[in-house]
Amino acid sequence: MVLDASELIGEFRELYGREPEGVWAAPGRVNLIGEYTDFNDGFVMPLALPHAARVAVARRTDGLLRLHSGDIADGVTELRVADLAPLAGGGWWTYPAGVVWALLDAGHGAVAGGADVHLRSTVPTGAGLSSSAALEVSVGLALTDLHQLPLTRPELALLCQRAENAFVGVPCGIMDQTASACCEAGHALHLDTRDLSRRQVPLDPGAQGLALLVVDTRVQHALGDGAYAERRAGCEEGARQLGVHRLRDVPHAELPLFLAKLDDERIRRYVRHIVTDNHRVTRAVACLDAGDLRGLGPILTEGHASLRDDLRVSCPELDLVVSSAVAAGALGARMTGGGFGGSAIVLAEADAVPAVASAITSAFSTEGHTPPRLFPATPSQGAHHLP
Ligand code: ADP
Ligand code: MG
Repeated sequence: MVLDASELIGEFRELYGREPEGVWAAPGRVNLIGEYTDFNDGFVMPLALPHAARVAVARRTDGLLRLHSGDIADGVTELRVADLAPLAGGGWWTYPAGVVWALLDAGHGAVAGGADVHLRSTVPTGAGLSSSAALEVSVGLALTDLHQLPLTRPELALLCQRAENAFVGVPCGIMDQTASACCEAGHALHLDTRDLSRRQVPLDPGAQGLALLVVDTRVQHALGDGAYAERRAGCEEGARQLGVHRLRDVPHAELPLFLAKLDDERIRRYVRHIVTDNHRVTRAVACLDAGDLRGLGPILTEGHASLRDDLRVSCPELDLVVSSAVAAGALGARMTGGGFGGSAIVLAEADAVPAVASAITSAFSTEGHTPPRLFPATPSQGAHHLP
């Protein structure tokens, strides 16, 4: 359900019997290209989705943090800010509580007074579209604005990542929070995860008669749980064997030479994925800068093959999205996010979208899969205050 700010404010009033001081929104994201590259100091290129977490927030002065999500039947969680401590295995509220903890830990003592928070989000959870980062960044921006904290957007993103890593206990990279905090409408964000330098790259598929779609497969395979850590460790092992700090430091032009130094077939595949996907980000940026959005199509499909065959993080449903979309005339498609379920993106001529969408849906039906959810990936605004 999409609520406007006044409905969220009405719900806040009913819950807490007072007025919120404002409403803030932070979007989910989809990554165009550059997957699993962020923990290798590489490049990524996410865009913000129209789907966003929205929070109505009011400061408190008594040290209580009250948290409520209108999207789950869980009541109000009440915590003492002074007692916040990293705690694995907590509920949804560990994400916003972690943000308060990270702000405090970074010396922003103003947040110690506490807050009342009411959340609603249109970002599907667990679909690889970063509902968690949207939640963190919306709360982080609300507190930053209300307390006039001297934090830039990239700094806010780092604090939200710290909340997720150290407080919630999820070892995510920096892409999701940076995308939610820093993306701009009509652009993708070219982010160098080594030094966090970034550039807004114009991306307006509609203006070129194209459409970018998200296909949420609505599956999540248990296999994904340990796979992220295993790939991460494998990449670190590859860098160690090659004598580089991170796989980012392996030049694409010298990839065959580097691969020849590796004995382990699995490590070789991981290295090949990271180095080629990093290079695909550079190629994709060149296409967008040249206004050649159609040139992005084959790069996406190549990226999918690499994730499927080299990194091996795809699954039958994601492979089916890509194969059925491309067979129905899409320019390109790939899984996006961590894989083993979640979402894919598809680039197609706008007038081919009905045929591509129905090809994907009927392929899912034929294979007996749950119907996927499709929506346009319109490059949208990053986190903001709602008037
Ligand atoms: P993703 O970020 O890919 O959607 P994660 O597993 O990282 O998946 O984060 C999902 C978690 O974030 C949920 O399990 C829940 O704890 C929290 N979350 C996200 N959106 C909401 C919401 N609207 N209400 C409550 N919790 C939410
Ligand atoms: Mg997440």
